[in-house]
Amino acid sequence: MSGIIQLLPERTANQIAAGEVVQRPASVVKELLENAVDAGSTIIKLYIKNGGCTHIQVDDNGKGMNVFDARMCWERHATSKITKAEDLYNLDTLGFRGEALASIASVSEVEMRTKSASESVGTRIVINAGTLETQENTAATQGTSITVKNLFYNIPARKNFLKSISVETKHIFEEYQRIALAYPAIGFEFYNQDKNLSKLKKGDLKTRIIELFNLKEEELIDATEETEIVNISGYIGSPKLTKRTRGNQYLFANGRFIKDHYLNHAISSGYGGLLEDKSYPFFILFLEVDPAKIDVNIHPTKHEVKFEDGRHVYTLLQSVIKKTLGAHFVIPTDTQLHNALGYSNTSGNNPSSYEPTSPNMRFNPFDKAKERTATDWEKLDDLLNTPVRPSTKPQQEIWAAPETASTIEIDDIFQVENAFIIAKIAGELSVINQHRAHAQVLYERYQLNQLIASQQLLFPRTIELSKADYALYLDIQDQINALGFDTSEFGKNAIIINGLPSELSKVDGANVVIQILDDFKTNYQDLKINKTDAIRQATAKNAAIKAGKTLSMIEMKSLVSDLLHCKQYTVDSAGKSIIIKLSKSSLERFFH
Ligand code: ADP
Ligand code: MG
Repeated sequence: MSGIIQLLPERTANQIAAGEVVQRPASVVKELLENAVDAGSTIIKLYIKNGGCTHIQVDDNGKGMNVFDARMCWERHATSKITKAEDLYNLDTLGFRGEALASIASVSEVEMRTKSASESVGTRIVINAGTLETQENTAATQGTSITVKNLFYNIPARKNFLKSISVETKHIFEEYQRIALAYPAIGFEFYNQDKNLSKLKKGDLKTRIIELFNLKEEELIDATEETEIVNISGYIGSPKLTKRTRGNQYLFANGRFIKDHYLNHAISSGYGGLLEDKSYPFFILFLEVDPAKIDVNIHPTKHEVKFEDGRHVYTLLQSVIKKTLGAHFVIPTDTQLHNALGYSNTSGNNPSSYEPTSPNMRFNPFDKAKERTATDWEKLDDLLNTPVRPSTKPQQEIWAAPETASTIEIDDIFQVENAFIIAKIAGELSVINQHRAHAQVLYERYQLNQLIASQQLLFPRTIELSKADYALYLDIQDQINALGFDTSEFGKNAIIINGLPSELSKVDGANVVIQILDDFKTNYQDLKINKTDAIRQATAKNAAIKAGKTLSMIEMKSLVSDLLHCKQYTVDSAGKSIIIKLSKSSLERFFH
């Protein structure tokens, strides 16, 4: 009896695998360049035509292949780079799957010339759509040249998915840049339609970056740190570069380009208040971790890796950026200093407490446990935690009281028990509960859906939540962040707080967020208030100043003025009094 299940022919299996490995011409370029790097080449040349759709060629002067390997390398799972699964944990090459060449050959026409040092004559091989057409001896110098023609010619459906020539060329250039950055000790050349687009001499990383991105030396800051978990090296752009070269972010883990949302975030938040809203820092950073602690075996074309110690890598990376920026003292810029100090007048900060002296070179961001005395670094911390208005946004987008306090008649104002404000408003004596007043002001501000300025924390906080609270958090994360918080998921049931609403930046952010989640639960689940409103109320309550806080004259006046501009200012949403007026008649009643 025969069944209906059959093994797929090798060619078909290769074509299916090719769907994974070869998505577009740039994937072929990546695989060929990586093979050339793995072969120990010192000069690699890339030639493309028509966005790589008709012609991709990579020539290298690496170790080459002997006649046996020249044939073998086109077989699926043929690799010289690992022999057993354990080798995966000790990887020092870019390739290891032995899939790339077999996949590429199954969907194109390839020609290879190669010669190893041990042979006097080279080998030429031609394969069309996975079928060997020619294998012969040829005169060649040591190294390998592989040409891939008419990609996807035998799979029209995939061919149709390709974008315009210019888009495919751009993708190819990106791959070229990534590899050129990771291997500055190798010379690279790139030719498009026979025209030279790039020629990079072998040298050091700094020179490579300057040549590739056409930068000035002083725009780059050296970022290096060796720790037990990870060694970090590379360059970050000065904050000025941030605006100009938006999106130029390169992160490598053990020589492999990676895309890691969290780690990019760690770097951006390391810039703290130096980054304008929606701008991206420039960086080219290399992480070296013990190969046993990193899993690259996720997907052949994806740029994700898994770190065993992801959370620590995050914190270390962020601290290194802060330290680097601090040590170079590119922060703060004059405008930021000006903004920070100008804006802090009402919060009682003394501008002269900040002196831009030389940085504390002994500062160790990893040395958390030790008590430290106030260092320059901490002064900087203070400065960074001082609210700075994001300058990229037009001013009116940021919430402001409709009028200033001075336009409302508030006389004889003072504070009692650090909890109540007593004021004569339009001739009448009023007692105001400062916490409820501020909560109401914030709540109505949130209702206007306007942008709330957020302040990045110099030392972000992570918190572990219960499974239920974490699910709750995920559900309302966007809404919380819209209220000036900068929070995101941070692994299993944990979240990270990178920024707080400006007004809150001095308080314990972790506590506030936990409280907000708690109050939200009560509001939403117990009191059945609609979700958005429940979040706004919970946030307003926890972001508002508390009883016990001493307020300056200006702060009292502006709070009362803000309150009087609220739509509803006598009672809060729960019906509790915010302000009590003691009219002449009610005073008379006391003395009746
Ligand atoms: P992998 O790189 O994962 O091993 P590939 O299919 O990309 O798989 O390559 C198969 C093998 O062919 C490699 O392991 C290597 O031994 C050999 N090879 C490929 N390209 C080159 C090259 N440019 N120079 C020398 N050897 C190469
Ligand atoms: Mg390879």
